[in-house]
Amino acid sequence: MRYAIIGAGPAGVLAAETLRGVDPEGDVVLIGDEPEPAYSRMAIPYYLANEIEESGTYLRPESGHFDESGIGSIRDRVTAVNTAKRTLSLEKGTPVDYDRLLVATGSRPLRPPVEGLNRDGVHNCWTLEDARQIARYAQPGSRVTLVGAGFIGCIILEALAKRGVKLTVVEMGDRMVPRMMDQRAGGLIKKWCIAKGVDVRTSTAITAVEQGTQAGARFQLICDSSEPIPSDLIVIATGVRPCIDFLRGSGIQTARGVIIDRYLQASVPGVYAAGDACEGFDWYTGERAIHAIQPVAAETGRMAALNMTGARVAYGGGLAMNVLDTLGLIAISFGQWMGVTGGDSGRLLDQERFRYISLQFQDDRLIGVIALGVTEHVGVLRGLIQCRTRLGRWKQRLMADPSRYMEAYLALVQPA
Ligand SMILES: Cc1cc2nc3c(=O)[nH]c(=O)nc-3n(C[C@H](O)[C@H](O)[C@H](O)COP(=O)(O)OP(=O)(O)OC[C@H]3O[C@@H](n4cnc5c(N)ncnc54)[C@H](O)[C@@H]3O)c2cc1C
Repeated sequence: MRYAIIGAGPAGVLAAETLRGVDPEGDVVLIGDEPEPAYSRMAIPYYLANEIEESGTYLRPESGHFDESGIGSIRDRVTAVNTAKRTLSLEKGTPVDYDRLLVATGSRPLRPPVEGLNRDGVHNCWTLEDARQIARYAQPGSRVTLVGAGFIGCIILEALAKRGVKLTVVEMGDRMVPRMMDQRAGGLIKKWCIAKGVDVRTSTAITAVEQGTQAGARFQLICDSSEPIPSDLIVIATGVRPCIDFLRGSGIQTARGVIIDRYLQASVPGVYAAGDACEGFDWYTGERAIHAIQPVAAETGRMAALNMTGARVAYGGGLAMNVLDTLGLIAISFGQWMGVTGGDSGRLLDQERFRYISLQFQDDRLIGVIALGVTEHVGVLRGLIQCRTRLGRWKQRLMADPSRYMEAYLALVQPA
């Protein structure tokens, strides 16, 4: 059996190692198009904050790991998949045959269609090469504008602030992290950032990037509803989309990502998908969803590999789950944090101390959580959601005082 994996990120690496372990006789080849050893994008902010060296981002730090594990590596880009002949075309090398294929190509950043945004000095923060470029210009005191304050944007914000830059954040939505936090929580994060010296402009869209300013900055960022922003460096974090263009014409069904079934198999037999590139399922709703986070990439990579060897391991779907540290303020959201029609909720807000808990219920089950400035035992909230624990009379108690979640957990899950 010849297994080919496209993409050497967390999903691809976990899949390759799982295949090697389960099928010692098969050929396993991992094809990745980046020049560095396989690395973790989520470690990039630590590199930017000077907390680790570049090598600290590597998924497998031992050089020769893949060779020694009997996993073949090809550094090249796959340009097309012929599912009838089961071959992959490469940009530089000779075609690769496969019996089972995994698409684990992750996602790539999007840029809004704004004039001047393709200038030299405007960077995404997605690859190690992006991070090197950002590190070059994000020096203490330099004027840096971050466009986009979503989950990834706020992670980058933290890293840039640690570099001592003069930071401005522009977000089109009406609050920070709009797809992870409600109005109150997003508003509190903004207030927190402003108090820490970051200029945050929400409900603001950029309309153009012009070269040079009177103030001597490299660029001037023009916005629809605020003053122009002089910037030495512009970092774009305005969303991502799966890297699946090379599948055009392959017969593999795609929507936003590669459509998979519960066994991570695509519409063409023998082809599987995992990680950011696949359109899987939401654990709660069962609907198609892309959960572009590393734990889901690792889990789907491992499960896809098991299914590629002939095991039948069903994927239950990903739980929306985000933890963010924005300049020391911890924000957490799990599951259906925005609530559901006909559901109930309980909220606790302490604006002065930047503390907020919002719990969402359906019937007598907890289905979603936002927690800001609260970290103690928050894992139990996730446990209550994932175990679909019936709360009984604890639902009313939690609606009245959401901070009693640990008490509820102990009473319901570990009764005396
Ligand atoms: C700055 C930053 C911070 C993040 N922080 C977090 C965090 O705190 N928590 C979290 O859970 N997630 C975080 N993420 C998201 C997380 O990194 C991704 O969800 C994860 O990397 C997805 O893994 P993957 O293996 O699916 O894809 P990727 O890691 O993107 O790997 C895919 C690989 O495939 C390669 N590839 C693409 N097309 C081809 C082709 N045609 N041929 C060959 N190779 C190809 C790509 O170049 C890439 O190397 C962060 C991401 C960034 C950028």
